[in-house]
Amino acid sequence: MPYQTINPFNNKLIKEYQTHNDQQVEQTLSAAHALYKSDWGQGDMQQRLKVLHKLSDLMSSRVEELAEIVSVEMGKLIEQSRAEVKLCAEIAKYYADNAEAFLKPVPYKSSLGEAWVEHSPIGVIMAVEPWNFPFYQLMRVLAPNLAAGNSVIVKHASIVPHCAETFEKLVTEAGAPKGAYTNLFISQDQVANIIEDDRVQGVALTGSEKAGAVVAAKAASKLKKSTLELGGNDIFAVLEDADIEHAAKAGAQARVSNAGQVCTAAKRFIIHEKVADEFLKKFTEHFKALKIGDPLEASTTLGPLSSAEALKTLARQVEQAVKNGAKLHVGGKKVADNPGNFFEATILTHITRDNPAYFEEFFGPVAQVYVVKNDEELVKLANDSNYGLGGALFTQDMNRARQLATKIETGMLYVNSPTDTAPELPFGGVKRSGFGRELSDLGIKEFVNQKLVVLA
Ligand code: NAP
Repeated sequence: MPYQTINPFNNKLIKEYQTHNDQQVEQTLSAAHALYKSDWGQGDMQQRLKVLHKLSDLMSSRVEELAEIVSVEMGKLIEQSRAEVKLCAEIAKYYADNAEAFLKPVPYKSSLGEAWVEHSPIGVIMAVEPWNFPFYQLMRVLAPNLAAGNSVIVKHASIVPHCAETFEKLVTEAGAPKGAYTNLFISQDQVANIIEDDRVQGVALTGSEKAGAVVAAKAASKLKKSTLELGGNDIFAVLEDADIEHAAKAGAQARVSNAGQVCTAAKRFIIHEKVADEFLKKFTEHFKALKIGDPLEASTTLGPLSSAEALKTLARQVEQAVKNGAKLHVGGKKVADNPGNFFEATILTHITRDNPAYFEEFFGPVAQVYVVKNDEELVKLANDSNYGLGGALFTQDMNRARQLATKIETGMLYVNSPTDTAPELPFGGVKRSGFGRELSDLGIKEFVNQKLVVLA
């Protein structure tokens, strides 16, 4: 894939980027490994945390400029791009403030002697990242690994090279030495070669199941650890006692935010039959009120999809869903006479288990609505998915919510809020949504040697 910036609002090519050759890859690996072995990687953590503090300040002070780069390159609404940049600054600060406590030695009581587990870096980490949160995804990998002393090499998605290059410059400006963080514009074969290299000790991928399976298999073939943050088909369940007004508004937002291209977006709406008509009416009103337009305009509430390819895939999925018996309640088409990658906010109902749509992730503003009679049916439907990333439940009965939350097979479950993210909360899934966790104390422990020392 060529590395190109194409504005999804009008499909105009802005810039094509030069790719890195194998010699540059070798230089990168060599610098990254040497840095990990040096006093930078092995020595006092404070020198690394200082860089994270500075990176946080830099991003906080350049929200406007950075947000515009995101919006122009992948179509996110400008307000949501600002929120992404601010979140990145918070993640950098969070690890700068907490990494030392997370990685301090943990004592163990033992009959064999004085024992503790200490945490040391393991080497170079290869990260493969997607375009939908083009700064946040990078920060989720960079911040904990920089703090721990690992060096990071990144292959970002080919449609967001400006974000990739900008982030690398920010990390360098914050004071990270050569080799600490390197962006490479490389092919899938070059990624595979890097994963095979002995200097690389861990692989982190966020993206589709297909990419995850290829990259994790490559890592496994060399017996290297990987973390996978993959797709999702998250539920948004509304029980009969929920505040329907609130749930309908939150649900619509949770489906169309980032034009629906969020791994943890609400995708399957599971509504109790007693409130199904009321919910659907209000939910539909929110969808119909959306204003399609330029992501840089504050009044726009639904932006374009990230690429012409993404638009084609989504249109095909909706067409197939309807062919297989789903009912189109609202929307369902590309926006006509528009040069951008716009798809109408769409609601599908009457999706049966034999419809391929039932198991597919729709990466765009397309909601599936299901109606259930009771909690048992809700749990059965929620868990009848290959994915298990996040999920949301709306009810006023917290006891019922706790019981349901425990029964639903996901890595994250929110009650009375759409699935969200914060630096201090672990992020990740189960089943085909992947394995491992990013963010929080769990994220920083994924790629460290948890080494036991015993003084007998
Ligand atoms: P994708 O096609 O898998 O791309 C993600 C990254 O993987 C890109 O950098 C891509 O490079 C690269 N890639 C693809 N195939 C590869 C291979 N065989 N070897 C090495 N690298 C490879 O994913 P996408 O469609 O852009 O992103 C959307 C998916 O990501 C959705 O399923 C979404 O749910 C998931 N996602 C998950 C999370 C999470 O935290 N769980 C977060 C965000 C997104 P190219 O761009 O060059 O193809």
